[in-house]
Amino acid sequence: MLKYYDPQVNELIKQEEARQASTIRLIPSENYVSQNVMQATGSCLTNKYAEGYPNKRYYEGQQVTDLIEDLAKQRAGDVFRAQHVNVQSYSGSIANMAAYLALADPGDTIMGLSLPDGGHLTHGWKVSATGKVFKSVQYPVNYDTDLFDYDQIAEIAKENKPKILIAGTSAYPRKIDFKAFREIADQVDAYLVCDIAHIAGLVAGGAHESPMEAADVVTTTTHKSLRGPRGALIMCKEEFAKAIDKAVFPGMQGGPHMHTISGIAVAMKEAGTESFKEYAHQVVKNAQALGEKLQEFGFKLVSGGTDNHLLLLDMRSKNISGKKMAKALDRAGIVTNCNTVPNDPAPPFNPSGVRIGTPAVTTRGMKESDMAEIAEMINDTADNLEDLQAIDRIGKRVRFFCSRFPLPKSFIHSEE
Ligand code: PLP
Repeated sequence: MLKYYDPQVNELIKQEEARQASTIRLIPSENYVSQNVMQATGSCLTNKYAEGYPNKRYYEGQQVTDLIEDLAKQRAGDVFRAQHVNVQSYSGSIANMAAYLALADPGDTIMGLSLPDGGHLTHGWKVSATGKVFKSVQYPVNYDTDLFDYDQIAEIAKENKPKILIAGTSAYPRKIDFKAFREIADQVDAYLVCDIAHIAGLVAGGAHESPMEAADVVTTTTHKSLRGPRGALIMCKEEFAKAIDKAVFPGMQGGPHMHTISGIAVAMKEAGTESFKEYAHQVVKNAQALGEKLQEFGFKLVSGGTDNHLLLLDMRSKNISGKKMAKALDRAGIVTNCNTVPNDPAPPFNPSGVRIGTPAVTTRGMKESDMAEIAEMINDTADNLEDLQAIDRIGKRVRFFCSRFPLPKSFIHSEE
């Protein structure tokens, strides 16, 4: 037992568990997985090498792993209505690189939303391998509205003729019109890759339009709003299946993490339920309730609100840097991250915004009225930024608040 063999690591895991239970977790890319996902992810499958794909492996002893991988693929295919699913990518970053390498050659042009305007590193940002291996063109959001300007994106695409157009975001609070991206891709004869890492749970639960019809390839992480283990899916039309599978293995990686894949299978079972649909819609309702209350307190929201699971606070309206605000919130036990806002004049390591989201707090059972309380605590923190005693007072309120939403026993690391 870990507690006897390695009390040091056991103690650290317990401390992290306590931190997760006693803080308000508002990082939009984080969640709490169920005990069932946790159990599958921590199983004997971690002991198995399974290079290749079901029925085409390079190692023997695949009687069970083949069945698990097929089950994960079938369930993800049912949830997202995908013709083909690859469940092996180690993470969303690897999935994106594999998708690009399946559809384009090094040196070809890819075009994605710029990182400071809400895109992801792996959409071609210059420090990412995706921005070094490919010629990368980035499109902005419209700085008057903070929204996608589909005419402007079409113009940039026509000028640069990308091989791949990427539609996907890490910090964009509004709906994405995947059909509009399809039209742009068609105009310039580009492939369309939709990266739904952030909104996958909303798509699975019917709270956001699915990109499956519009896209050639859809990538997603499994651990954000989708509430699975840390991993990724690549989904595509049948015509791209072979190229995608080859790009993942042997293109990007060796043996798949079968323990993660079994956790993905369990998460996909959960994502196909009625209660997950309710969860997805509640995530959006909570984000909207939180946004409205914060606006009443004078916070400025990028784009004026949200249609999804996240809010981007432009802290310039409070004359506070994003980093300072995120640090003060963390001290009080409200965990967020600082983030650039569109056209941010501040540097990326000290940006103007704070990004917050509701997937994790919604998993704990919080509802709109609880969001109003969270907004009060955020506002109290902003008003008392330099006052450590006040921050500690807010911290006490946070801990009391969290005790009303205990993590179900099922979430908790077992010592038995
Ligand atoms: N794509 C998007 C839109 C993301 O937001 C992220 C992670 O935040 C990724 C891809 C990368 O996922 P990972 O961190 O699993 O590599």
